[in-house]
Amino acid sequence: MKVPVAELTRPLGSGTVRYHCPVTRCRWHWDERPGLEPSGPIPLPINFTPENLDQALTAMACKLATAQARRVETVLRAHLTLAHPGYLKDQHQ
Ligand SMILES: [Zn+2]
Repeated sequence: MKVPVAELTRPLGSGTVRYHCPVTRCRWHWDERPGLEPSGPIPLPINFTPENLDQALTAMACKLATAQARRVETVLRAHLTLAHPGYLKDQHQ
């Protein structure tokens, strides 16, 4: 399932983003704070170059973004299943 586009919900700087239910007239939403994701250590070779660092940071950012997208999708899927029975089934036809 594609995660709906998020929008900033508070003034720039808070970093909170809001994901809305894709069903028209449904007011359900889910707020996320992407910066709270634990990143863990960034693996680098002993004699790393700026390119190594750039690649490692990019890979970590992708990993964190994927984890967030999966979490949002799980929450949204649970909402759709409970509040809009049949919506997910209709999307696969
Ligand atoms: Zn909904």
